Amino acid sequence: MMKIDTYAVFGHPITHSKSPRIQQLFAKQTAQVMQYGAQDVPAEIFTTAVGNFFAAGGKGLNCTVPLKELAWQYADHLSDRALLAKAVNTLARQADGSIFGDNTDGIGLLTDLTANHGISLTGANILILGAGGATRGIVPVLLEQQPATVVIANRTVEKALAIADDFAILGPLQGCDYTSLQGRQFDLILNATSASLSGQLPPLPAALLASKGSCYDLAYANQPTAFVQWGIAHHACRSLDGLGMLVEQAAEAFYVWRGIRPETSAVIRLLNDERQLTDNSR
Ligand code: NDP
Repeated sequence: MMKIDTYAVFGHPITHSKSPRIQQLFAKQTAQVMQYGAQDVPAEIFTTAVGNFFAAGGKGLNCTVPLKELAWQYADHLSDRALLAKAVNTLARQADGSIFGDNTDGIGLLTDLTANHGISLTGANILILGAGGATRGIVPVLLEQQPATVVIANRTVEKALAIADDFAILGPLQGCDYTSLQGRQFDLILNATSASLSGQLPPLPAALLASKGSCYDLAYANQPTAFVQWGIAHHACRSLDGLGMLVEQAAEAFYVWRGIRPETSAVIRLLNDERQLTDNSR
């Protein structure tokens, strides 16, 4: 049995993950005795890997690409936001041994956009690229802010339409394919595809971003992602990546596990400084 409270992030690929570093910083800041690792877990072995982790005494997991929908199925009970999202990024073993599933992506993104970067969502035309687990987590939170519209564009259009259908009751939401974006403009474009992880970009019309609009890539890297570069090239007011969201969603997960909400701004600053050092050393 594990003696020290043990947590981990499961995903595939996982080597790029900054989650262990973030959770270790939170633990130090809040004087919590715990350890947090990363494990490469392809979808095919998800159920076995999670079962083994909790059977060995593990306390909690983060689940990332491509495991969030599987984690949703795995949980014995769910928070309201996870129930709605049909995607889980945080699993927590409860005192009775049952597994609780939550989704902290939406609140993580919202905090980073609005509190950290001052981007207003109310009345905005918002485009989300991609229709995977992350999109399911962020759509309800975005719609709560009463945007003018939220459009989800996806390579596999059926997935965009299915999400639009599932959440239509919450606000003005549409699904479409990339060709239907021709002639439209958005105040905020969120890249929630995993294309960035392989340096790729979905096909986007040149005039997609409205004047004074912002771009936000949920993915993050030590260098500007392909989508962050697209935003800069298309005169985005701000073109950001998802490092802040990562820290904010991690803080919410930490709260689910430990009942303490860590302070995030110093951690975001430190990680930003570290990646600039990495850039300069290349
Ligand atoms: P999923 O695997 O569930 O979904 C991936 C999505 O990307 C699908 O819509 C897929 O389209 C699309 N996609 C993949 N490759 C391409 C491509 N080459 N061109 C166009 N579309 C493509 O992933 P998640 O939703 O869990 O995560 C999406 C991204 O968000 C990842 O980069 C992840 O790292 C990031 N993320 C960041 C967080 C943060 O805290 N910063 C939190 C959550 C996610 P199709 O359906 O057609 O296959």
